[in-house]
Amino acid sequence: MTSSDWPARLRERGLRMTRQRLAVLEAVSAAPHRPAEAVHAAVRAQLPEITVQSVYTVLHDLTARELLRRFDPPGSPACYETRTHDNHHHAICTRCGRIEDVECVHGEAPCLQAPPSLQMQIQIADVVFRGICRTCTDTEQGSEELVGSGSAEA
Ligand SMILES: [Zn+2]
Ligand SMILES: [Zn+2]
Ligand SMILES: [Zn+2]
Repeated sequence: MTSSDWPARLRERGLRMTRQRLAVLEAVSAAPHRPAEAVHAAVRAQLPEITVQSVYTVLHDLTARELLRRFDPPGSPACYETRTHDNHHHAICTRCGRIEDVECVHGEAPCLQAPPSLQMQIQIADVVFRGICRTCTDTEQGSEELVGSGSAEA
């Protein structure tokens, strides 16, 4: 997906092409899983006058038309990505908060079966992987010798 496709995709979804929408789509596709504040910071480079509030509005409209997917990491602000419709999951590092995409083995929602006794028509089973990323593991191992040596807190 190249950025030149965005105007066509906006039209396809019945949304008018605006500089704000285009800038937000480009910012999100350049760096997925960004929260609104970070999208605002990126978009401001192009559109210095844009407010956080209008970024929120644009994100909301684009999410409603499924041009963006919203992901709510537990305990962190919602973030956005342009990879929609593949039911992929997320792995979150509990130390640094980085988010990685994880392919859905099943391919479509829901990827876990609820027991029939639940008597609910299940549409989605949210799967979130949580752990510690490689960078954090390495940092931890590297600093292990310092632990307990009474290193002063800055
Ligand atoms: Zn990490
Ligand atoms: Zn993702
Ligand atoms: Zn899945």
